[in-house]
Amino acid sequence: MMPTELELKISEIDRRIRSAEHAAGRPKGSVSLLAVSKTKPFELVRQAHKLGLSKFGENYAQELAEKAQVLADLDLSWHFIGPIQSNKTALIAEFSDWVHSLDRLKIARRLSEQRPAEKGPLNVLIQVKTSQEERKSGVAPEALPDLVAAISELPNLALRGLMTIPAAETDMVAKRRPFQQLRELLATLPSNQLDTLSMGMSQDLEAAISEGATIVRVGT
Ligand SMILES: *Cc1c(COP(=O)(O)O)cnc(C)c1O
Repeated sequence: MMPTELELKISEIDRRIRSAEHAAGRPKGSVSLLAVSKTKPFELVRQAHKLGLSKFGENYAQELAEKAQVLADLDLSWHFIGPIQSNKTALIAEFSDWVHSLDRLKIARRLSEQRPAEKGPLNVLIQVKTSQEERKSGVAPEALPDLVAAISELPNLALRGLMTIPAAETDMVAKRRPFQQLRELLATLPSNQLDTLSMGMSQDLEAAISEGATIVRVGT
């Protein structure tokens, strides 16, 4: 049978990830793929799951909640990667397994309070602003240590690492800089539970993997 378009795309991304791991001298399988399924239909997520993908990323709380419920028969993990409005934290706390875009203590407190006890702690990453560009979301690197300390106190959150969405750059040196900064920031933080660097998208996943990304976020 002819491979489907989705099959071709997934195998191409997989090839890029494995070859970047190899080029960076990193163990095979040390980088995982988060398939960004925002705006994509349920059926495409089912197909992607059949093709071996299990981690899916969503930007909108309502869409994440719907997909997680409709596809509850599949063994998937749901990752919230979009800006978080405080009136949406209950949905995110209930239906996500991971949140990549945490950048404010107020939101962290709500997520911890609203996380259903039977689900266990919610895995969270703090989004850091690594580029000069005026982005609304992300904590400034200087403010990171205090936010880490405060979030570490919250009972129903498990702080796992950092995430960034840098400005688009064209050359490899410029692409790597913010990812290097995120890796160095993670190393300065006082915890050995912090094992996750969510960085790299379709345009820059090679640069991110060469700087230590453990999960890349790609729209399929
Ligand atoms: C949409 C989105 C992605 C995927 O971007 P692509 O360029 O399609 O790979 C990754 N991360 C975040 C936070 C997104 O919103």
